[in-house]
Amino acid sequence: MSMSRPPIEKDCVFCRIARGETPTEILHATDQLIVFRDIRPQAPVHLLIVPHKHIRSVNDLEADDAAILGELFRAAREMARRLDIARDGYRLIVNVERGGGQVIFHLHMHLIGGWGR
Ligand SMILES: [Zn+2]
Repeated sequence: MSMSRPPIEKDCVFCRIARGETPTEILHATDQLIVFRDIRPQAPVHLLIVPHKHIRSVNDLEADDAAILGELFRAAREMARRLDIARDGYRLIVNVERGGGQVIFHLHMHLIGGWGR
């Protein structure tokens, strides 16, 4: 019996990808997160940056999650450099809950760009 909520949720699409249970090309991975392509890209480059920890949305962040947030931005910068869109520029988007356009309820950041190539 666990005292705290488990960090992963059985039926969460992103938890399944993070556990390697769904065939997905992982472009980048750290101890804290993974990066893969959005299956419905809105731009030439559309990546999802997803923490391993199951956090429903920004509303559910806890003080201990600060390091994860830093990692999300560092990974975004790394991927933008690697895909050569850093100089042109790109968007980082975090949708929060249904009204904010969130579809998968596991916190994630969209990296969108590449229009100029
Ligand atoms: Zn999850």
